[in-house]
Amino acid sequence: MLIDTHVHLDDSRYDSDRDAVFQRAHTAGIESFITIGCDLSTSYSAVQLAVEHSDVYATVGVHPHEVKHIAPHWYPELCQLARQPKVVGFGEIGLDYHYDHSPREIQRQRFREQIALAYALQLPLVIHTRQAQADTLAILREERAERVGGIFHCFSEDLSFARQALAMGFYLSFSGIITFRNASALHEVIRCVPDDRLLIETDAPYLTPVPFRGKRNESAYVTHIAKQVAAIKYGDSPSGYARIAELTTTNARRLFRISS
Ligand SMILES: [Zn+2]
Ligand SMILES: [Zn+2]
Repeated sequence: MLIDTHVHLDDSRYDSDRDAVFQRAHTAGIESFITIGCDLSTSYSAVQLAVEHSDVYATVGVHPHEVKHIAPHWYPELCQLARQPKVVGFGEIGLDYHYDHSPREIQRQRFREQIALAYALQLPLVIHTRQAQADTLAILREERAERVGGIFHCFSEDLSFARQALAMGFYLSFSGIITFRNASALHEVIRCVPDDRLLIETDAPYLTPVPFRGKRNESAYVTHIAKQVAAIKYGDSPSGYARIAELTTTNARRLFRISS
């Protein structure tokens, strides 16, 4: 069984067939889903899905793209939402200097504030970082984020960054990007991640893995990410997939405190 540790199940692209998306995931062997909040309204939708589905868990938080919209009532409402027992993480939060949808100074300030909220709530961080390595690491250190821990989702940074993230106690989660051509540097990172820090995710509906690239992504395809990780770590060993399923599922349950 697998856990899709990062998916946006509330996305409107699933509105016409969300039940079928769940059904295909179950058939493919996905046992649980962590659906992610990106702003106040998607945090509400994520929690709603977790309330409706026994195998769905939620995170709440504000994505760096959206932090410029934070209004005074957002944090109190997010903290209220986080009291729901199926809220298992805080995020996605972080820095994105690739798109710069929010001014960088605001991104940094809101990242710090949300690390503090996560610490107060004792929820692991779900971190999004893109082209912001130095600032991400500096803020995590200054805010003592290792006290709460968490995950670098959709890991696509280099080996040096991976080593520093691991040294702070974080987990690294890999997405469909590892199935793309030119992903050899990420394959090298995967070989260096200890077994007890490795996670997999789809980030669906984005980042569809090969061989479905170009189509809408969905949780069932996390099997293709598990297969790729197995091939990288164990070559063509027939037990590789089962080992990856076992260890990534154990890791996800430990990090998000989900009982089996
Ligand atoms: Zn992200
Ligand atoms: Zn995401």
